[in-house]
Amino acid sequence: MRLRPLKKHKGWSEIITQCPICGKSGWCAINDEKDIVRCMRVPSDEYIESGIGRQYLHYLNPDHLSQIEIEIVHAESVDKRDDEHLNMVYRTLIEEMKLSSEHLYHLRNIRHLSDHEIAQRQYRTMPTTERYKVAQRVLSRFSESTSLLGVPGFFTQAGNHGSYWSMAGMAGLMIPFHSIKNEIIGWQIRVDEPPLVLDMEGAIKGEVMRELEPTPFGMRRARCKLFVQDKEMEVILTEKQEKVCYSKSNQFVFKVVLKQGTRYWWWSSGSKDNGSSIGAPVPYHLALPTACLPYWNIGESPEGIIDCSEVWVTEGPFKADKAAEALQKPVFGLPGIGTYSLILEPLKHLGCKHIVIAFDADLIVKPQVQKTLELCAEFFAKNTDMSMSLALWDLSLGKGIDDLLNEGYLPQLSVMLE
Ligand SMILES: [Zn+2]
Repeated sequence: MRLRPLKKHKGWSEIITQCPICGKSGWCAINDEKDIVRCMRVPSDEYIESGIGRQYLHYLNPDHLSQIEIEIVHAESVDKRDDEHLNMVYRTLIEEMKLSSEHLYHLRNIRHLSDHEIAQRQYRTMPTTERYKVAQRVLSRFSESTSLLGVPGFFTQAGNHGSYWSMAGMAGLMIPFHSIKNEIIGWQIRVDEPPLVLDMEGAIKGEVMRELEPTPFGMRRARCKLFVQDKEMEVILTEKQEKVCYSKSNQFVFKVVLKQGTRYWWWSSGSKDNGSSIGAPVPYHLALPTACLPYWNIGESPEGIIDCSEVWVTEGPFKADKAAEALQKPVFGLPGIGTYSLILEPLKHLGCKHIVIAFDADLIVKPQVQKTLELCAEFFAKNTDMSMSLALWDLSLGKGIDDLLNEGYLPQLSVMLE
């Protein structure tokens, strides 16, 4: 497990690798004693509100992590700059980056976006190589040599002739996040090759050590370290091939499967020199129909160009972009369903009267999502007088609101708050 000590929360570290509670990477934190996790994704009855959203407390068995190697990552990171500065740098970055033909294909044929939408939404490709050249071109367009300092994603690397600026993150499709004032305040990367992680159940612990060459059939493989009944072993696991172990008396002991981890990552550089973390607060994304975009000036909120009395809320920036276009309404894309507190002030600012929540249709079968939804309704009931509805549809018509709208259907609305 890799940990990065949090400067602003003494005694706590961000879990860079898989969180022991939600199994996802990044965002969640653990205390120095390693017995409490503040998970951002799995609700519990005890929580604290913070700049990056609601953090749920989970108590660990004291020796739960004793066998996992802990690696501490230290770096001289700097605080994130204000939205105005981030917007200036990120808009320059857009001009200096391209969209690869693979990503264009994905947007056209998998996401079913029109070429007009693709151009208007300004998606870009994070290349695998020569990133320092892009960073150099961006920097050269500013008079201040410190312009990239405090901009998440950028960091300095030591070279033979002194340090130079480069860009962090895995290669993938970059999706910009817009504030209600049309400032680009961050990016998520839909990574081309999500890192492999272990999905474990029962009396087993373990971690992925390194990825190996794929099988002749193209399945990804990794060397993994597993701990079963205090015995350590190294095994090679192949993606999606489940290993289940039963005892002699036919009792379930453990299950482990290697699978692709998180697909969407913040573009952040908080664990690198002169880099900056995306957090505190993390960005949200407001999507408008593309027809509105030419009239949406930077620094202005959009009430004058689109009716904001009803605002839709979904999870993820792509879904928000798709839904805004199909519904011709303003749509917020939350970075995670538990981060609804991020949009409280933006919704008030827009003069929203009615919020429509459109999370994935499988929420009905996920108790965690149900719980989050209840807390969300409670939160808006306490802090606003807005009404709230839940968008519902049959899961067979599509998982996300984007899938549903692609198929030409509209969801039904069920009242949550009058
Ligand atoms: Zn977690």
